[in-house]
Amino acid sequence: MTTLSTRVKNMATSATLAMAAKARELRAQGKDIIGLSLGEPDFNTPDFIKDAAIQAVNDNYNSYTPVDGYPELKQAIITKFKRDNQLSYDPAQIVVSTGAKQSLANIALVSLDPGDEVILPCPYWVSYSDIVKIAEGVPVEVKTSIATDFKMTPDQLEAAITPKTKMLWYSSPCNPSGSVYSKEELRALADVLVKHPHIIVVSDEIYEHINYAGDHASMAQFTDMYDRVVTVNGVSKAFAMTGWRIGYIGAPTTIARACNKMQGQITSGANCIAQRAVITALEADPSKVQYMVDEFKSRRELILQLLNDIPGFSCNEPDGAFYVFPDVTAFFGRTFNGVTINNASDFAMYILEHANVATVTGDAFGNANSIRISYAASTDNIKEACKRIKEAVS
Ligand code: PMP
Ligand code: GLU
Repeated sequence: MTTLSTRVKNMATSATLAMAAKARELRAQGKDIIGLSLGEPDFNTPDFIKDAAIQAVNDNYNSYTPVDGYPELKQAIITKFKRDNQLSYDPAQIVVSTGAKQSLANIALVSLDPGDEVILPCPYWVSYSDIVKIAEGVPVEVKTSIATDFKMTPDQLEAAITPKTKMLWYSSPCNPSGSVYSKEELRALADVLVKHPHIIVVSDEIYEHINYAGDHASMAQFTDMYDRVVTVNGVSKAFAMTGWRIGYIGAPTTIARACNKMQGQITSGANCIAQRAVITALEADPSKVQYMVDEFKSRRELILQLLNDIPGFSCNEPDGAFYVFPDVTAFFGRTFNGVTINNASDFAMYILEHANVATVTGDAFGNANSIRISYAASTDNIKEACKRIKEAVS
């Protein structure tokens, strides 16, 4: 008999990946499922990046890399941070990992002791809470709602801080709400944080380029915060490279060194071919991948228009990323086709079964009133999905 650890028994399965697996399974059974559950660009990786990978294979890049990444890649990351974010890092502050997800896991494992609290403004990205728990930290959820554009206010932050608070984790542009914190809003949060110098901030900026609101602001840009911010980024979203698995951090040297040590015992470093390709990706001007952002922008207009046309859907206007996070509480307590909907999970399940559209319940993101819909899908699929949802709830 296998006895599993309490750690894994207490862990939730990633809801985004679980829903994508469910959609795949239903498709294999012959069902015509439209998948709007996974946050994954539906573009191919651009040719100039693929070419760099092919070149790396032919150049015999096949050995272990330095644990924290090739020096040339770290240099490309330093140049990118300077170019796009006006942030200065030296090589000892950069660690390349197997996706931003591993970057986040490294940070949690090297920063948290049992019982340390991590403030998570809700809705937060699905894996934050479980990564914190794996590291024996305690997630502290700060609830927000559609009324405040799903953003945490400085007062809420202040109220959530206790002597046990070790970190604050957030993403901007946010997965799942699409909300983007302006520089002024970040400054107002920083004004609270400067009074609590023991708190480390994890600023997840993986959607930085998928921003329809204007300038992207980074918490580490404030000189009084720089020494305690870990900036997380990666290539999955901006370059349509989800499966290549490369993420990275710019961090205070102590944290970066510790992440390097942790990763040295877990993966030995990220894939060598992917690392070579990412040098080319990051060295390119961001305008080279702007066509994807333009396309996401027009899909955003389309999906908002179609969802707002469905009575009961209350949509936020996302300024970034490629998700809408509509409030669906208007459907709670109602019965459709003999099925009573009591919460967002029931609603997501109902539209999976009766509209053949896969979304993700907001519970997975710490908000039980909404569902997350990814519009990283073709316009035909978006139109068809909204039509089916409308019919299923009419
Ligand atoms: N952070 C956020 C906010 C995300 O949406 C994702 C999903 N890709 C990740 C981190 C992890 O990205 P990856 O591991 O693919 O780099
Ligand atoms: N980040 C994507 C999402 O939120 C990919 C899935 C995952 O990594 O969990 O859908």
